[in-house]
Amino acid sequence: MNDLSLAIDLGGTKLLLGVVDRKGNILASRRYPSPLAEGKQQHEIASIMLDCIDDFSSKAPMDGVKHLGAGVVGRVDDESGLWLEIEPGRCETVELEKLLRQKTGLDCHIDNDVRCAMRAERVFGAGRGSNDFLYMNIGTGIAAAFVTGGKVLRGHSFNAGEVGHVAVDVFGDVPCPCGRRGCAEMIASGVGLDSRARALIHSYPASRLQIPDGARVDAKQIFDLAETGDELCRRLMYEAAEAAAALIMNLVWVTDPETVVLGGGIVSDGRMFQSILSRLNAGSMRFASGGVRLSTLDPGLTGLIGAAMCAFQMP
Ligand SMILES: [Zn+2]
Repeated sequence: MNDLSLAIDLGGTKLLLGVVDRKGNILASRRYPSPLAEGKQQHEIASIMLDCIDDFSSKAPMDGVKHLGAGVVGRVDDESGLWLEIEPGRCETVELEKLLRQKTGLDCHIDNDVRCAMRAERVFGAGRGSNDFLYMNIGTGIAAAFVTGGKVLRGHSFNAGEVGHVAVDVFGDVPCPCGRRGCAEMIASGVGLDSRARALIHSYPASRLQIPDGARVDAKQIFDLAETGDELCRRLMYEAAEAAAALIMNLVWVTDPETVVLGGGIVSDGRMFQSILSRLNAGSMRFASGGVRLSTLDPGLTGLIGAAMCAFQMP
C-alpha cells in the first residue's frame, strides 16, 4: 500500500512541491517562484504556499498521500508547528503546521530547511548511519545542523546552527548585519563572496570579474577566473576557503562529530570543497573518522527529500 508524503521546500530561489515515498523517490514535483524574495510577511507567504498546494494537488497524483512535510527558512518550533521568523527583523509567529493541516487534512510536520536537508543526508546521503555528524550548507548563506548522540540540536530559541555568524576573522574589517565583524558567512557564502568582490574590485583594476547590477556576483565565475590567475578571484577564493575551513574546525572542536557533510551551491561543483579540505588541520580533525564529505545528493532536491523525511518523522 502506498504511504506517500506531500513535501514542500521553501527556499530563497524557489518553492518546490513534490510527492515523495519513504525511499526518497520523487513521484511528481512542481516548481513555483519563491515568495520569500519579494519581502512579504510570513502570513502572506503561508497563504501563497496554501494556494500552491491547491494548484499542485489539482495536477499531481495524490493517491496514497497521507503526510505532509514542509521545510522553511528561518526559526521553526517543530514541536508546536510554529514558524517563528524568516530572519532577524522579519519575525511573525505563524501557525504553519495547523494551517497546512486545516488545508489538507494530512498528518503535517514542519522544520527548518537546513535541518530538513540534514534529515535527507542522514537517511540517504553522506551522513547515513552516523549518530554524530555535522551537516553544513554553504550556499546563499551558511547554516548547519548538528546531530550529537543521535539527537538533533535545536537550542533554547530554535536558533541552533546559525553558524554563519561564527566569527573567523576577528581582527579583520568585514562587517556583518548581525553586528559582528569577520563572520564566516560574510566571507565564504554566496552573499559573502558578492560583498567581498564589490568591496575589493577597485583595488584590482586588471580583474576580469563581472560585477552585475541588481544580481549577485556569480561564484562559479569567481572560481573559473581564479583558475586563470585572476588575482582578485584568487584572493576571494583563498579567503573563502580559509574562512570555511576555520569555521569547520571551530565546530569540530565544539561537538566532536564523526563525520562532516558539506552541501550547498558554493561547494557543489567540488572546487571550493577541495580548497577547503586542503586547509583543514590534521590535529583538529583527528577524531572525525568519517571525514569531511561532499554531499552526494542532488542539491536542488535535497530540501524536498528532507521535507518528506520530516513528514515521515524520519530519522
Ligand atoms: Zn554575522
